Amino acid sequence: MDISTLCIHGADNNTHNTGAVSVPIYQSATFAHLDVGKSTGYDYSRLQNPTREYLEKVMANLEQGTDALAFSTGMAAITALMELFSIGDHIIASGDLYGGTVRLFEHISRKNGLKFDYINTSDLDAVRGLIHPDTKAIYIESPTNPMMQVTDITAVCEIAKTFGLLVIVDNTFLTPYYQQPLVLGADIVVHSGTKYLSGHNDTLAGFLVTKNEDLSERLRFIYKTTGACLSPFDSWLLIRGIKTLAVRMDRQQENAVKLANWLTTQKKVNKVFYIGLPDHPDYAVSTKQASGFGSMISFEVDSETTAIQLLERLQLVLFAESLGGVETLITYPMLQTHADVPMEERLERGINDCLLRLSVGLENADDLIADFEQALN
Ligand SMILES: *Cc1c(COP(=O)(O)O)cnc(C)c1O
Repeated sequence: MDISTLCIHGADNNTHNTGAVSVPIYQSATFAHLDVGKSTGYDYSRLQNPTREYLEKVMANLEQGTDALAFSTGMAAITALMELFSIGDHIIASGDLYGGTVRLFEHISRKNGLKFDYINTSDLDAVRGLIHPDTKAIYIESPTNPMMQVTDITAVCEIAKTFGLLVIVDNTFLTPYYQQPLVLGADIVVHSGTKYLSGHNDTLAGFLVTKNEDLSERLRFIYKTTGACLSPFDSWLLIRGIKTLAVRMDRQQENAVKLANWLTTQKKVNKVFYIGLPDHPDYAVSTKQASGFGSMISFEVDSETTAIQLLERLQLVLFAESLGGVETLITYPMLQTHADVPMEERLERGINDCLLRLSVGLENADDLIADFEQALN
């Protein structure tokens, strides 16, 4: 079955017998037992809830995994994930990670005894060089945020396998519609469901997906114990959002290609980072492992003044954090998403006063270009 069909009919809707086409919202904290020792399969909503369970089955199927866990936010999912590790464990991570993930690793996981090294995970020799006996996992974002570096996931998985390491991939930017890391050999997929999966800038969610039974069991234990599960209503919003994932992703990508090409023609724009441009250094890897490029663009303008002017003058395009929704959003990574990354490191990574990040939405592409034209020139 094609993934666009799976988005709509991704799991058996067998939680009721009313014929309701939309999965009901089971707004119940607890479930009565039929008899002593006889459960309906549902006991308490932190452990399992029929609405959330349906969503989890859809997500597992979309990623070609065997189990998916729905969390209240992406950060809650990554926080639970870190509970797989113990004092002294070492994790190699992409150097250009989502700012909140770096904050978690550096200010919370490190305090709990985990050790991290950050490198460009597209440099396979560098990855190999950092592996030592305490190394337990490689944590990848591909493409990265905001510099749009792409890692050859299959190649990293091959290295990881020879050393017995877990490969974890944050697949928020491309979603299973364009990229399926478990199929490429990864062990765990992470999502901020807040972004493309939900798709409407109206709810927060997170996921962990795996195809390994042992990992699934360990994650389920952490999940029910730490409790950052997604509410029934938000689960329903995610189910609804995912139904249109395929059309949204394709149309947003179409808009992104138009906008990226237009940006490259602008005098005040020095660089455009979009993995769908054939001159992107990782274009070949992208086309090998993903079926699309997504709709995230970063670009560098000629001065801080131009950057501020753009943010002040854009009207249709909203100056707001987050990404992946139907509304086009622009962010200033220096001040927003990456404000907690030390200045020196930010500059080293290319996150400077002139860098802006764009999440292209579903508006008409010509209207978006007109908005940029009036704001820029
Ligand atoms: C937003 C985001 C997160 C965090 O997710 P929340 O839902 O905001 O907690 C993690 N990774 C990436 C790549 C993100 O864009």
